[in-house]
Amino acid sequence: MDFSIPGHMQELLGAVRAFLESEVYPLERRDHAKGFKSLLPELARLRVEVKRRGWWLPQIAKEHGGLGLNLVEHGLLSAELGRSPLGHYCFNCQAPDSGNMEILIQFGTPEQQKTYLEPLLRGDIRSCFAMTEPEHAGSNPVWMSTTAVKDGSDYVINGHKWYTSSAEGARFAVVMAVTDPAQEPHFRASMILVPLDNPGYRFVRNIGVMGDVGEDWASHAEVRFEDCRVPQSNLLGAEGMGFAIAQERLGPGRIHHCMRWIGICERSFEIMCKHAAAREVAPGVPLGTRQMVQQWIADSRAEINAARLMVLHAAWMIEQHGAKEARDEISLIKFYVANTQQRVVDRAIQCLGGYGVCDDSVLSHFYRHERPARIYDGPDEVHKQSVAKRILKRHGITIKSGANQ
Ligand SMILES: Cc1cc2nc3c(=O)[nH]c(=O)nc-3n(C[C@H](O)[C@H](O)[C@H](O)COP(=O)(O)OP(=O)(O)OC[C@H]3O[C@@H](n4cnc5c(N)ncnc54)[C@H](O)[C@@H]3O)c2cc1C
Repeated sequence: MDFSIPGHMQELLGAVRAFLESEVYPLERRDHAKGFKSLLPELARLRVEVKRRGWWLPQIAKEHGGLGLNLVEHGLLSAELGRSPLGHYCFNCQAPDSGNMEILIQFGTPEQQKTYLEPLLRGDIRSCFAMTEPEHAGSNPVWMSTTAVKDGSDYVINGHKWYTSSAEGARFAVVMAVTDPAQEPHFRASMILVPLDNPGYRFVRNIGVMGDVGEDWASHAEVRFEDCRVPQSNLLGAEGMGFAIAQERLGPGRIHHCMRWIGICERSFEIMCKHAAAREVAPGVPLGTRQMVQQWIADSRAEINAARLMVLHAAWMIEQHGAKEARDEISLIKFYVANTQQRVVDRAIQCLGGYGVCDDSVLSHFYRHERPARIYDGPDEVHKQSVAKRILKRHGITIKSGANQ
């Protein structure tokens, strides 16, 4: 494995860092104070600037209008963008749209691509992904009640979803629904594209998360599908392939998330170190002279370095051998990096004291909004369990597969 970052990437990363510092960081306080919607005109201007600089859609192939970075390269860029909660949005590589773009490119029909993918790539619309249901354990993804029943040339969808991130203001949802309950668990559900101006779609509310209800892209909604009728041509991929497509979506998606968390670690670490050097606990005595603070710095640096190398290696494994071969690495980074991030942000907050928990600092945003990292895309325990089972299998013990069976 080559440890050096190619020259063209170093140049890109440096330019993107400068752009974030001068254009994006200054918006963060307004995000806290007035909400995401108040930033939309400014963010639209920055998106135009990102396009002008040729950085738009970094993760998407050139033939679809993107920058065409491979997974390792996009991982490196994602760590830069993750330094700000607004970074990915400015480049149109934010979740959940980035995952939806990928599956539409891979599985969408020409008509679906024209209607849904093209405006998404242009940044004219947003989307969401509706899989988790309040009545069922999301960590067991084969267990759900939402159904899509064929009627004439349509599907009629009924179901209750929550944590549908970014549903407010989204133009369409990718909905996971059971199309054949008689099938084996992993072949029961399908993904269906649902335009959200459909009369059978009901937006219930944005869910308050750690005291923040959020709005627009920066929100998580509870929604209902009530006799929601869409043409069968809105099926994405083959019927019963919902979980297989979800797996495709999650492999690279976990690299994107994990590198975004590395970006959060790096920004928090930088804030902590600057504060430790500048804050005096007595005249002429900086906080950084205290050994407990030095330990936070040393532990954080070691943990971030380890986490970063693990993610880049997992990205490299996916590129070389495919997501299936890299399953262990993908599970390991998901819980390891989420926990590293939580520890580093927490240490930085402790180091800053009252300023750390105050909304003037981006740390409080990270603490509130990134705690869920250990829950979504598979809780820590599920990843630990599945990687341990695979390891034990190599030692001759076979434990029944399935997240919660
Ligand atoms: C901020 C946020 C954004 C989200 N965005 C989306 C989205 O856009 N679309 C979407 O469909 N969903 C989304 N989700 C939902 C997310 O995927 C689920 O929360 C996740 O799958 C866990 O499901 P659950 O919340 O039902 O927890 P449960 O499955 O009920 O699990 C609860 C807890 O039980 C423990 N547990 C579960 N299984 C095991 C096990 N095998 N062994 C030991 N312990 C276990 C874990 O600690 C887990 O946290 C989001 C969630 C959050 C918090």
